[in-house]
Amino acid sequence: MKVLVINCGSSSLKYQVLDMTTEALLAKGLVERIGMDGSVITHEKIGMDKFILTVPMKDHQDAIGHVLEAIQDADHGVVASMDEIGAVGHRVVHAGEKYSKSVLVTPAVLRGLEECCELAPLHNPPNLLGIAACQALMPNTPMVTVFDTAFHQTMPPESYIYAIPYEYYQKHGIRRYGFHGTSHKYVAERTADILNVALDDLKIITCHLGNGASVSAIKRGKCIDTSMGFTPLEGLVMGTRSGDIDPAIVTFIREKEKLEQGVANDILNKKSGVLGISGVSSDFRDIEAAAEEGNERAQLALKVFAHKVRFYIGAYIAEMNGVDAIVFTAGVGENDIEMRDIICNDLGNLGIKLDLVKNKVRGKETIISRDDSKVKIILIPTNEELMIARDTYNIVKKIK
Ligand code: AMP
Repeated sequence: MKVLVINCGSSSLKYQVLDMTTEALLAKGLVERIGMDGSVITHEKIGMDKFILTVPMKDHQDAIGHVLEAIQDADHGVVASMDEIGAVGHRVVHAGEKYSKSVLVTPAVLRGLEECCELAPLHNPPNLLGIAACQALMPNTPMVTVFDTAFHQTMPPESYIYAIPYEYYQKHGIRRYGFHGTSHKYVAERTADILNVALDDLKIITCHLGNGASVSAIKRGKCIDTSMGFTPLEGLVMGTRSGDIDPAIVTFIREKEKLEQGVANDILNKKSGVLGISGVSSDFRDIEAAAEEGNERAQLALKVFAHKVRFYIGAYIAEMNGVDAIVFTAGVGENDIEMRDIICNDLGNLGIKLDLVKNKVRGKETIISRDDSKVKIILIPTNEELMIARDTYNIVKKIK
C-alpha cells in the first residue's frame, strides 16, 4: 500500500509518498505561500531533480490539488492514479486528553479535534483544513490522524499536573501535554533496534533539539515525563522560545514595558531563546560563527542552551533511577558536534562518556559514546513522516 503523509501549516504544507511494503520514500515536497502571492510547490521524486511550480493557490484545497497532480504527473509522479494511494496520514499537533494513539478519521474524531483547537490555536486549525481538503478531493480514501501529544499521554499525574488550583485542570484542561511525541517515539524505538534490546528493558532520554526543542524520559517504552508543557513554550531554551522562566517575569515585563495584550506571548515565543540572548540569530550555525569571532552574548546563548539540556538530563536520570541511553535528534541534535560535546562534557560520574572522535558525525545513525561508557549516547536522525505512514498503514490495513 502507498501512503500519502500530509503535514499542514497555516500557509505551507509538507508531504511525502511512501510505499509501505518496503517503507521506501517515493516522493516528497513542500507547498509554500498558500493563500498569498507567489504560491509555489517544490516536488521531488526520489532520485530525480526537484520540480518547482509557481502557481496561484488560494487555499489548502488548491494546494492539495497541486500535490495530487504532482504525484500523478507522467514525468515526476510516483502513482498512475490516486487509486494507488491506499490511505492518507495527517499530522495533528494537539489531541488534548482525547487520544493516546493515532486514529482513523471519522466525523466524531473531527468534532473532538475541533474542540482541541483552543489548546493549539496556531496549529490545529490548519491541520484540520488539510484533512478537510483531502476529504474533499479523495472522498473514498481512508484518513488517519497522528498526534504530537499522543505519545506523552502515558505520563503519570505527578509529571503533568501543575501546582496551580486543581480546578483549572478540571475546567480548562490546563496540564502538561508535551509535543514532538512522534519524534520521541521514533527515536526510542530505533534505540531498541540499534542496541538490540527490548524497549521494555530500557530507560532512555531522548533529546529532540531543533528550532523547537524538548527532552523526554522514556521508561519501558512509555513516556514518563517531557519538557514541553501546556504549550510548546515550556522546557528547554529554543531557537526563539524562552523555555522555562519564572512566570512572574511576564507580569513584570508587561508593566515595565507597557505591553499590549498578546505582546508578551509573542516575545516569549518569537523573540526569546538563543535569538533573544545572542541578538544574532535563532540558527545555531550563525550563533556558533559569532561565538567563534568572540561575540560574548553568542557564547552565552550556547552555554545557557546546553545548561538547560543538562539540567533536564539530570532530572530525568533521577526520575527513572538511571538511564541506559541518551539520544540526540533533530537539526541541532543531529548536526551540531560542538553542542553535543558541551552537553555531554564532564558527566563521567553518571556513566556518560562521549567519544570525541565518534562524535564527529552529522545526520547518520551512530553510537557516539566511548566503549567504556555505561550509558550509550546515540545520534539518530528523526523520521516523523515514516512514523505517521506506519501508523496510518497499520490502522488502515485492518479495515481494508
Ligand atoms: P529542525 O527544527 O529540527 O529543522 O532544526 C533546525 C535547526 O537546526 C536550525 O535552526 C539550526 O539551528 C540547526 N542546525 C542545522 N544544521 C546545523 C549544523 N550543521 N550545525 C548546527 N546547527 C544546525
